[in-house]
Amino acid sequence: MGSRVGVSVSASVRMIQELTQISPSLIHLKKQREHYRPFHKTMKTLWSPWRIEHVKNTTPASGCLFEPDGNHSSNKENLLLFRDKNTVVLLNRFPYTNGHLLVAPTRHVSCITELDDQETAFLFLMVKNATTILKKVFSPDGFNIGLNLQEPAGAGIADHIHIHIVPRWQGDHNFITVVGEIRTIPEHIDNTFDKLLPEFKHIARNRP
Ligand SMILES: [Zn+2]
Repeated sequence: MGSRVGVSVSASVRMIQELTQISPSLIHLKKQREHYRPFHKTMKTLWSPWRIEHVKNTTPASGCLFEPDGNHSSNKENLLLFRDKNTVVLLNRFPYTNGHLLVAPTRHVSCITELDDQETAFLFLMVKNATTILKKVFSPDGFNIGLNLQEPAGAGIADHIHIHIVPRWQGDHNFITVVGEIRTIPEHIDNTFDKLLPEFKHIARNRP
């Protein structure tokens, strides 16, 4: 028995040595993983507080990402796709996948319980409309739609509620994501914005 265990251990060591030799890319990925350690910490939460320090860098003078300066109904600089008196839609600057949208009430509130009935209705109507647009423009295979309330639940910007709409494709959680813990976003965010904006302008024109 003892010798069999000995063979098994040495075989395992040999296998590890061989793996190390034949897969330098695995070592490279391991280094990348170390480099992206801060990302790793939040990978298990889908709607993780995506790099809040970067988000803060792009925060408008109002102090809130969901309240871009001025009264534009859209603005590429802020990735603002839609704004009226009830609802705001932003393209997430640090998306989980292409077309990751953030839908928020226009009013600065930290919990859905603070919304009045009209705001609540328009918020969910916009979630529906935005999902329709994403289906039309990107033809995803599915969606994750949800919100995190307050920091313990993973809210990156806890004081202004927002609903994430994340289009999903078969295989988007791919090898690179799982092994390297790096997400690949195939399209530049400016292009994504340009594709979505006409659709949201269409909604703006048809809103009561
Ligand atoms: Zn706000």
